[in-house]
Amino acid sequence: MKATIRDADVTHRRVFVRVDYNVPIKDGQITDDTRIRASLPTLEDLIQRGAKLILASHLGRPKGAADPAYSLAPVAAHLSRLLRRPVAFPGRVVGPELAEFAQRMQPGEVLLLENVRFHPGETRNDPELARSWADLAELYVSDAFGTAHRAHASTVGVAEHLPAYAGYLMDKEITVLSRVLTAPQRPFVAVIGGAKIKDKIGVIERLLQKVDVLLLGGGLANTFLAAKGFDVGASLYEPDNVDVARRLLEQAELQGTKLLLPVDVVTAPAPEPDAPREIVDISSIPDGSQALDIGPKTVEQYRRELLSARLILWNGPMGVFEVPPFAEGTYAVARAVADSEAESVIGGGDSLAAIEGAGLAHRISHLSTGGGATLEFLEGKILPGVAVLQDRA
Ligand code: ADP
Ligand code: MG
Repeated sequence: MKATIRDADVTHRRVFVRVDYNVPIKDGQITDDTRIRASLPTLEDLIQRGAKLILASHLGRPKGAADPAYSLAPVAAHLSRLLRRPVAFPGRVVGPELAEFAQRMQPGEVLLLENVRFHPGETRNDPELARSWADLAELYVSDAFGTAHRAHASTVGVAEHLPAYAGYLMDKEITVLSRVLTAPQRPFVAVIGGAKIKDKIGVIERLLQKVDVLLLGGGLANTFLAAKGFDVGASLYEPDNVDVARRLLEQAELQGTKLLLPVDVVTAPAPEPDAPREIVDISSIPDGSQALDIGPKTVEQYRRELLSARLILWNGPMGVFEVPPFAEGTYAVARAVADSEAESVIGGGDSLAAIEGAGLAHRISHLSTGGGATLEFLEGKILPGVAVLQDRA
């Protein structure tokens, strides 16, 4: 158990808070402020308790130098509206001006640093940069689960110099994902999809030891189908990973874990909206055709498993859901997850986009903000940005 801000005495203290404000911005406008809103419980609590907040985040991938396209200025303005109080934004990452500003801060004041990736030392976890940030504050708080898998100066370096606590968002991610791995309600059903096995081998391997049922779909299922001897035509598949898929199928069998693969698929010559579609059994994928979604028989099987689950973990879409004719399998699984009485946990950038596209996000118990961090956590890797937080006394 990690110590949270509940355990910390923050009153009149300067607190360096690593948030995740890596939000989509188009023409200076924030198009989705979910991540900013998600930080509010932590910020509001700290403000109410009289802390002085120094906020830090990255935005996009500027190349270690100031780039106006990636400035956090629009975020400062938006955050100020959400908090209904001024958010100071000097437009700097480090420097004496910030140090002076921090010294003069009053309880409840909020300061947002400029994009930490404008400094080349951020991604290198430069000790000097970390030290200067630590000198600004007396405590460190992380609410940026999404970057906790990276050992950067703002996620790890600065935290090594200060008493470090989890914010509420960070705490919720750790608590929910740990419970999924260590004390799952049963039946525990996992759905794994997405493009490539390569990205998901670790998670599939780990989940095979934990779940009662594993449902596979999306591009990665094709490599499993190939490993079982089916001809997948022109589908996305990874010849180099057929052996890995075979090994995972054997592992499931040895452990007696129920592993289901698609029995039918939606095929087309290409993932294009007006391409001629055909629903076929997996034994008759036409030459030159690609499997781009799971078929209706598969949907029915998967739905049955999901409805009888008590815990569902889902990562990765069942098909090329960005192209509407191939979104049906993913949306049907989304409906089944929502309709099930199970506790539901969904992670992954595209998976969250899919559940939102289906209009069902509000019916999911936990939407994990992590992407790569969520996958690594589920694989059992130690995330450096979590490890650096102090344990609960
Ligand atoms: P997440 O971001 O949720 O972890 P991934 O990034 O692993 O998910 O996978 C999402 C991508 O997988 C989407 O771009 C989707 O189009 C692609 N995909 C899913 N099924 C297929 C398929 N059958 N063929 C090709 N691409 C697929
Ligand atoms: Mg993705």
